[in-house]
Amino acid sequence: MQILAGCQPTHFRSRVIAHVLLAGVVAVLEAAGIVVAARAQTEIAKSHGPLPADPAVAEVPKSRPKVAVPDVVAPEVRPIAVEGPAVATAASLHGGATAAGPRFVFALSLSKPVDASVFVLANPSRVVIDVPHLDFALPPGVGRSHGHAGWEFRYGVFSAGRSRIVIEAAWAARIARTQMVPATATSPASLQVTIEPAPGGVVAAPATPPVAATAPAKPFVERKVQGRFVVMIDPGHGGIDGGAMSQTHVVEKDIVLQVAHHLKAALDGRHGYDVRMTRVGDTFVSLDRRVEVSQAAGADLFISIHADSVGDAAVARTARGATVYTLSETASNEAARQLAEKENAADAAGGLDGAEAGDEGQVNSILADLVKRETQNFSHEFRSLLIDRLRPTQMLGRDPSRAAAFKVLRQVQTPTALVELGFLTHEMDAQQMQTAAWQKRIAVAIAAAIDTYAGRRLAAARP
Ligand SMILES: [Zn+2]
Repeated sequence: MQILAGCQPTHFRSRVIAHVLLAGVVAVLEAAGIVVAARAQTEIAKSHGPLPADPAVAEVPKSRPKVAVPDVVAPEVRPIAVEGPAVATAASLHGGATAAGPRFVFALSLSKPVDASVFVLANPSRVVIDVPHLDFALPPGVGRSHGHAGWEFRYGVFSAGRSRIVIEAAWAARIARTQMVPATATSPASLQVTIEPAPGGVVAAPATPPVAATAPAKPFVERKVQGRFVVMIDPGHGGIDGGAMSQTHVVEKDIVLQVAHHLKAALDGRHGYDVRMTRVGDTFVSLDRRVEVSQAAGADLFISIHADSVGDAAVARTARGATVYTLSETASNEAARQLAEKENAADAAGGLDGAEAGDEGQVNSILADLVKRETQNFSHEFRSLLIDRLRPTQMLGRDPSRAAAFKVLRQVQTPTALVELGFLTHEMDAQQMQTAAWQKRIAVAIAAAIDTYAGRRLAAARP
């Protein structure tokens, strides 16, 4: 079974120019207008080598472009750091209807110029900007809700040494221009990407697929519960994909990682467990990669940890509490279906294209047949145990035992469950989820459920 669309990063030419050069050299390059590293999507097709000399791409204007005034910029001129990663100090996405048609400009203020690779993806339409590792010193919540319906951007770590910015476009987009504007006496260096509607409303597929934050698939080896009980803890989201966010900009990826570490600590303190995590830090991990890591480890149990949110302000006032999900290709209700859709969009949030993120329909039909009834029964058993243990610790959502088609839960031989700890959009849920005391309590409750479940499985496996 091909569970991963493994891609070798052959096309990717990430270079931090200023990173490795002396300050003087950078200054010379800037003066000469050479520190330009932007490539439109079509340039990705070109093989390794020097940057294209195409004036349409490698263009350094003498003055800042005369586009609309940014509406979410908090520009701040900082001293230029020559050593270490570049620092992003402001980001904005501005534009809309112009005389020449709709147009958006994404601008990123930087402590020094960087090399960038820019391409577009379809379904949903996104503009992806890959850069060497950046320190993001941006105001919390920047990129979300900035007044342009349907246009948002997110940023963060994509993989080791690489950062990514993903702009969600409301229409099929193409890159009109990418430029690295050098710093002046009054303004920092700025990476500017101009986005226009794609001709005919069709997003051109990247000539070379973008690099996946994944590794090639390993063959799945059948195994029985032997020796230590392998628990795979899966903290949702990470890196560029922040997941849900509270009013106070607390992000899901941080909360669930903290709870995951507490859970690992709780299980490590007990006998007989081999506890693994799909991510241990703030990194982006694709959904396929999470499944692959679980299968490669021969996990006896896979638990994905998330926190929920609702967009509707009226609903958000009342929606709270924990819910535990198992896999079902038919969702237990409409809310469960929508949640799975939202969680399954994590790959799109990270800037993976449709092929890498997996063909939804195809995967559905193949895996629905493969998932064993026994695995499903064990998943349901664990869900019940978990809900019983959570009840004294965390308020449960209405109808807390649910099922939906979560990608990470599609594992043929490993029982799986996904817990939504609570709602970040509910003030009280969000508040308690941030406290270490609550995080430890809920981790201990989850560990107790795992303990009971593992005890039963190990007892059944004994001759
Ligand atoms: Zn989530």
